[in-house]
Amino acid sequence: MRSPGSTGSPSSSWSRSRGGLLATPPESVEKILKEADPEASCASWALRFAASHEGVFVVLSGMNAMEQMADNISFMADFKPLDEGEMETIRKAQETLRSIPIIPCTSCNYCAKVCPMDIGISGSFVALNYYTLYHNMAMSLGRQGWLVDGHGKKRAGECIKCGACEQVCPQHIHIRDELEKVAATLQGEAKGNLRK
Ligand code: SF4
Ligand code: SF4
Repeated sequence: MRSPGSTGSPSSSWSRSRGGLLATPPESVEKILKEADPEASCASWALRFAASHEGVFVVLSGMNAMEQMADNISFMADFKPLDEGEMETIRKAQETLRSIPIIPCTSCNYCAKVCPMDIGISGSFVALNYYTLYHNMAMSLGRQGWLVDGHGKKRAGECIKCGACEQVCPQHIHIRDELEKVAATLQGEAKGNLRK
């Protein structure tokens, strides 16, 4: 979309917005973006941010509806990089996003290779992160059902706390503690015993 930078090689940027996190951000982040420009979609902020970096010549965007394609074309056909004011809005949104205590799991699944119980670790974390971000229990239970149960994995509550997973996690996540939170929050809800 832009000319390659004068000093670097051309590069591509894939807006891997963590399962659509930037395109469908939590309410607190969406508020910042909408206050700055009520007309702009959240996805447009994410894609324009990715495309504004010097040297980026293509940004890939996952789309599954005609409206999304029309929206993308509306701001990419005559692309304008984010100006300083818009970059400040992005910085505020990033700060707010960083303040939300999600589990920094990248779903690399190194832990899955060593878990003797075949616990659905990354899927459990995705599910809990959805709850932390959107406070939507039905959506979080749906993620758990799909990413854990649907993949034949065991749920968080069946962890025997051997610690093998924590030895290989590149993110140094306290997996056992986080799985306890998953079990208390999501599996508690499943039994009609949601932790308050
Ligand atoms: S601590 Fe739990 S999740 Fe981690 S490897 Fe052991 S059984 Fe699996
Ligand atoms: S090793 Fe760590 S970052 Fe990778 S999937 Fe497991 S918990 Fe997530």
